[in-house]
Amino acid sequence: MKILSINAGSSSLKFTLIEMPEEKVVVSGTFEKIGGEGSFYTIKYNGEKIVKDAILDNHRSAVRLLLDDLIGLNIISSYDEIKGVGHRVVHGGDVYSDSVVIDANVLQTIEDLVPLAPLHNPANLVGIKSFTDILPTVTQVAVFDTAFHQTMDKEEFIYPVPFEWFTKYGVRKYGFHGTSHKYVSEFVENNIKKGLKVINCHIGNGASICAIKDGKSIDTSMGFTPTVGVMMGTRCGDVDMGIIPYIMDKTGDSLDGVISDLNKRSGMTAISDAGSDLRDIEEGYENGNDRCVLAINMYVKKIVNYVSMYNTLLEGADVITFTAGVGENSYLIRKLVCERLACLGVKIDNELNDGLKGKFTKLSTDDSKIEVYLVPTDEELMIAKDTYEFIK
Ligand code: ADP
Repeated sequence: MKILSINAGSSSLKFTLIEMPEEKVVVSGTFEKIGGEGSFYTIKYNGEKIVKDAILDNHRSAVRLLLDDLIGLNIISSYDEIKGVGHRVVHGGDVYSDSVVIDANVLQTIEDLVPLAPLHNPANLVGIKSFTDILPTVTQVAVFDTAFHQTMDKEEFIYPVPFEWFTKYGVRKYGFHGTSHKYVSEFVENNIKKGLKVINCHIGNGASICAIKDGKSIDTSMGFTPTVGVMMGTRCGDVDMGIIPYIMDKTGDSLDGVISDLNKRSGMTAISDAGSDLRDIEEGYENGNDRCVLAINMYVKKIVNYVSMYNTLLEGADVITFTAGVGENSYLIRKLVCERLACLGVKIDNELNDGLKGKFTKLSTDDSKIEVYLVPTDEELMIAKDTYEFIK
């Protein structure tokens, strides 16, 4: 059966049509600049990538165009062939510890959680409503970025701040990238062994590290927001919050302005002065550019700090996994991180690691105390799998 996996942003909509249970991607693509000038979409089908101009007044028109194109391309003969739609939803608060079939109550809850994810949940809701309008009888499922981390213990998720901030206002660590961490955790269970203690390094433009025991998240580096934890492409990760009022005072900038700088002008882009794309920063590093060297050394140390901390929390990890854009493609970062973890007995085969991209591989040598793997993540498939569970 065919299941659509959807990730709706404020002006974009990414889709992947997956044949389940075969887990075969039929077609995928992205609608961009929805509601703006020059909207277009890209569709990948049969090994070809087609870019098309389109008038996309809103997400609903994108959904309509998508379904009509699926018919036009003879991928489906009627809308009825779509048996389920799985939606990525960023914030499920402490309400959802798993994916859920969307009904009026769920819609209301996602709406109620908007203050916790003001940029993402409204866009996710628009995506859901567009599909439920056009496919009212099809099962729609919400898959939350936060759900996988709901197994964290209170000792991990509570902040040492006035307790009523938690009880009255929901201030706590929620964690993100849960769909990816869950995918990697299940992948390890199915392809390596069940019951392992895993530290998953999801490092892409955004990045979070997760400690996983018996397939459950026990701690993760992102928190109440996705700004904290390790240093990221443009986000600062953990910094002293005292910087905020100090910079507001010095520059006259607003709170929103400073928060925006911490999310969009910090991390690798700030330190490297070479943008946020690691490929460019690596080039500078290889050429001995001081700022790029500084950025990469800081980045590696911050990842290593979390891995070391989670190794202790897990009382000795069995496996370290690298995933997402950087983790899957940057052999330099994998090498530097593992070199710094040599004190924990981590050892990888550098020849094997060198040049390796996006392929499930055991990188550690037989005498490494912790096994190290590259595991490509697949959030779209995870969304489709969770959706399939409700309709199979
Ligand atoms: P997002 O958090 O936006 O989902 P991704 O997981 O797709 O990010 O990661 C994108 C990032 O991965 C890019 O910005 C770049 O820094 C990094 N990246 C992608 N390909 C490579 C590569 N070949 N070498 C090094 N870094 C890469």
